[in-house]
Amino acid sequence: MHFRTRAIHVGNEKCSETGAVVRPLHLASTFVQPGAGEWGEYDYSRSGNPTRKALETTLASLEGGCGALAFASGMAATHCVTSMLSAGDHIVAGSDIYGGTYRLLHKVTQRAGISVTLVDTTNPGSLTEAITPATKLVWIESPGNPRLSITDIAACAEIAHRQGALVGVDSTFATPVLTQPLELGADIVMHSATKYLGGHSDLVGGALVVREQSVFDELYFVQNASGAIMGPLEAFLCSRGIKTLELRVREQSRTAQKLAEWLAGHQQVERVLYPGLPDHPGHDIASRQMQGAFGAMLSFELRGNFAATKRFVESTQLFQLAVSLGAVESLIEQPAAMSHASYDAADREKHGIGDGLIRLSVGLEAYEDLQADLQSAFNIV
Ligand SMILES: *Cc1c(COP(=O)(O)O)cnc(C)c1O
Repeated sequence: MHFRTRAIHVGNEKCSETGAVVRPLHLASTFVQPGAGEWGEYDYSRSGNPTRKALETTLASLEGGCGALAFASGMAATHCVTSMLSAGDHIVAGSDIYGGTYRLLHKVTQRAGISVTLVDTTNPGSLTEAITPATKLVWIESPGNPRLSITDIAACAEIAHRQGALVGVDSTFATPVLTQPLELGADIVMHSATKYLGGHSDLVGGALVVREQSVFDELYFVQNASGAIMGPLEAFLCSRGIKTLELRVREQSRTAQKLAEWLAGHQQVERVLYPGLPDHPGHDIASRQMQGAFGAMLSFELRGNFAATKRFVESTQLFQLAVSLGAVESLIEQPAAMSHASYDAADREKHGIGDGLIRLSVGLEAYEDLQADLQSAFNIV
């Protein structure tokens, strides 16, 4: 079956009891057991819940994994992966990553005696240099955040696997519609379900999809032991969002491509960072790695200082000033002051998160309205 058919039907089989075409929302925390010490399919909702399971079944199918796990947030999902490591282990992560992942790795994971090195994963050679015999995990984000850098997932997976490290890919920006990291050699795909999977700014959640059963079993053990599961209501909403995932992502990407082309010719714009533009350094890899579109996130550098950039992001109407992304509503933000404020100043500078950088999450509104909204902000600064 095609992707969009699976997004609607896999995991969402009709309710056998009532025939309802939408599966019921199971809020139950506990399930009657066949006998003392005997276990049915479900016993306690931290360990498993039918509504969560339905979502996990869909996600495993869409990413081509052996199984999926749904979490309370994207960060809970990433934390579950880092919790598989032990003191003395080493993580190599991309330098163009989600601000919260940077914070988790530097302020939480390192406390457990796990060392972290950030490298520019757009250059696989730098990954080769950074990997040591202690490296257990390579963490990649592509497209990266906020500079939309493109990492060659297959090349990085090959390098990491030579050293026996697991490869995790935060594929939140790409979505399973545009990139299939497991097929490219990754071991674990992570999503902030808060973003495109949910798609409507009304849930916080995360997911892991895993290629091999042994890795899945280990992650399930950590999830069940530590408890950061997705709640049933969120799982229900997320399953509903996923039914339109492909349509949303393709349409939002189309609008983003047009906006990127328009911004690239704008005299008040220094540079547009969008992998769909031929002059983007990752364009060729993205053309191979992403299926038919380049996503709906784009960043650009305004010709202006911190204050002018702040004025710009505060003056759009349709593009609402908020962190988060991936929903039907368009959002705008200034990474240096918002999504990437948890980077220390030196790392911000080093990784190109300048004061004039603006990040857009392009929603489902009409292109003409979004373009006019941005033009009115240009007129003000
Ligand atoms: C939002 C986001 C996360 C974190 O997810 P939460 O659901 O907010 O915990 C991780 N990675 C990327 C790329 C994100 O956009």
